[in-house]
Amino acid sequence: MSSQKPPSSAGNNLDPWYANYAERTAGLAASEVRALFAVASRPEVVSLAGGMPAVSALPQELVIESMNRVMREQGSVALQYGSGQGVPALREQILDVMAMEGIKASADDVVVTTGSQHALELVTKLFIDPGDVVLAEGPSYVTAMVIFRSFQAETHHVAMDAHGMIPESLRENIARLKALGKKIKFLYTIPSFQNPAGVTLSWERRLEVLQIAKENGILVLEDNPYGLLHFDAPPPPALRSVEQEGVIYLGTFSKTLAPGFRVGWALAPHAIREKLILANEAAVLSPSSFSQLIISEYLDTIDWRAQVDRFRGVYRERKEAMIGALTEYLPNLEWTDPNGGFYVWLTLPAYLDSKQMLPRAVKELVAYTPGTAFYADGGGRNNIRLSFCYPTPEAIRVGIRRLQNVINGELDL
Ligand code: PMP
Repeated sequence: MSSQKPPSSAGNNLDPWYANYAERTAGLAASEVRALFAVASRPEVVSLAGGMPAVSALPQELVIESMNRVMREQGSVALQYGSGQGVPALREQILDVMAMEGIKASADDVVVTTGSQHALELVTKLFIDPGDVVLAEGPSYVTAMVIFRSFQAETHHVAMDAHGMIPESLRENIARLKALGKKIKFLYTIPSFQNPAGVTLSWERRLEVLQIAKENGILVLEDNPYGLLHFDAPPPPALRSVEQEGVIYLGTFSKTLAPGFRVGWALAPHAIREKLILANEAAVLSPSSFSQLIISEYLDTIDWRAQVDRFRGVYRERKEAMIGALTEYLPNLEWTDPNGGFYVWLTLPAYLDSKQMLPRAVKELVAYTPGTAFYADGGGRNNIRLSFCYPTPEAIRVGIRRLQNVINGELDL
């Protein structure tokens, strides 16, 4: 791994600095499908590719009201640097948000970050040396794996089924990697409404996964952006609600309010919290005071739980539109049927390659993310992640219909 040269996408021979890039930039290869996504953002294309929340479902007047109050009453605080750990009042409110998923904690252990994405980066920076191992579900969140690679970690995948990560596969991976002398630094998991597979780790398995992690001295990194966006029953309680010392929990307001605020958080075991704050300060001095105060004001004065309910309604309707369209147009394929979140995972016949098929899909005015993006090891060739979060139900139906044409076209070849 350490002899890896930066790939041509990190810089090429026309770039005079090509030879100077740090080796870790090898992990920052631009995705091969990026250029296509530029085309896919044209309005006539139905994009089932991105994970953009439906911010139009958040009444902007309410945000403006909160912002105005903050500027009138605490303008000089909002415009100033703040604590590297985050605004104390917001950290208290975050405790109430996490309590909805069974978590009891102290505001002292909450570190506000610039989205949960930045928390992922900070945790990786704290724990990973080149060649260390991260275990993650297969498939897993693409931009977490980009971070792991940029710190020169190896990502190894734990198999999943409809009930989430399979404990037996976790045990096998640990035994195999330990026998190879590898250092497994943490287990990265998205237990509820997983990105990209849409599945949820069952309660029994949550307990088993925690037990295995504990037995083997492996830290668990629980990433939970979607847990509150359930369509009927809530998911089982968070892993962090069961185990405190061995779990770092990540949350975010990106999906329950808006991603433009860039406010997320880490709830860390006491021992790790201090290092996280120092890393946060080194990276950004302090997370945005302006965004944090607006969110804090919003949570204080506006019925945020009702807003989360509205989001649930919007996404439930879109999910139903997608499952209905898949049932109608692609009845012979397999897909996951999530009870929350943003994503459906579609399986094509084994001989189809979803990445090769993408240019043709874009020509037919529908875009998706090929499954290989979500594996560190080339898996997912015949899978597709379909996002139902952003397009309207009508657009989703049109998109799946177009996808049917594309897939049928491939089968005719
Ligand atoms: N984790 C997962 C699983 C995600 O899907 C996302 C956003 N798509 C993030 C983390 C990052 O979210 P944010 O930085 O907006 O909080």
